[in-house]
Amino acid sequence: MSSDRRLVVRRIADLLRAGAALLPEHCPICKSPLLRLRSGEVVCPVHGRVFIVRDEAEYARAELQGVLEELERGIVRRLHGYASMISRGGEVDRETLNEIILWLEAVERIERLLRGRRQPGGEEGGKPKPRGGK
Ligand SMILES: [Zn+2]
Repeated sequence: MSSDRRLVVRRIADLLRAGAALLPEHCPICKSPLLRLRSGEVVCPVHGRVFIVRDEAEYARAELQGVLEELERGIVRRLHGYASMISRGGEVDRETLNEIILWLEAVERIERLLRGRRQPGGEEGGKPKPRGGK
């Protein structure tokens, strides 16, 4: 066994100890077995976070998830700006307040969308099943 391989095995063991579940899928790049973390994230022990994609539709969904997460990070950064402005005692006019509320609504919506796709309904137990529906 090469040292690389051993490192991967150790990483998998660590993840399993942390409560991750081994998936039947493999990393498209290095063919390592993928794991699902308790958070629902799917990771390759070598490449970190990956999206499992079985078809075109799923690819679109995975891409959307990436976009949503990026968007959320961007908005949170913005909100940080508002937060520090407010905590410095800066004046918050009505327009700014409305902006903040809109950003918060956006985050809420993103969270809802992400939550909907982070829960792979009843796939625990190892048996992969085709993800139909919307
Ligand atoms: Zn990989």
